[in-house]
Amino acid sequence: MEEPIIRCPRCEWRPKAESRWQCEPKCGTSWNTFWTGGVCPGCGKRWLHTQCPQCFARSPHKDWYHFPEEDDESVEEEKTETIDA
Ligand SMILES: [Zn+2]
Ligand SMILES: [Zn+2]
Repeated sequence: MEEPIIRCPRCEWRPKAESRWQCEPKCGTSWNTFWTGGVCPGCGKRWLHTQCPQCFARSPHKDWYHFPEEDDESVEEEKTETIDA
C-alpha cells in the first residue's frame, strides 16, 4: 500500500510531525489531527473540516489526502479514449 501524500488542498502546505491542531470550542486538546483521521483524542469528536495553519482555509479532512495512484489512473483513461478512425 502506498502512503497518501497529506497536504492542504488550497496552498499545498504539508503538515509536519510536530504540527498541532486544537479542539475548540470543545475540549481544548492539542494534537496532530492527521494521526487520528480528524478525531479528537480528548473528547472523541470527529472534525470533518481541518484548518490550514498557513493559509487558514478550512477544507474537508479527506481532501487533504492525495493518493499518487489516482493521477496514474486518469492518465491511462486518456490513452484508452484514443480511438483509431
Ligand atoms: Zn493551506
Ligand atoms: Zn476534543
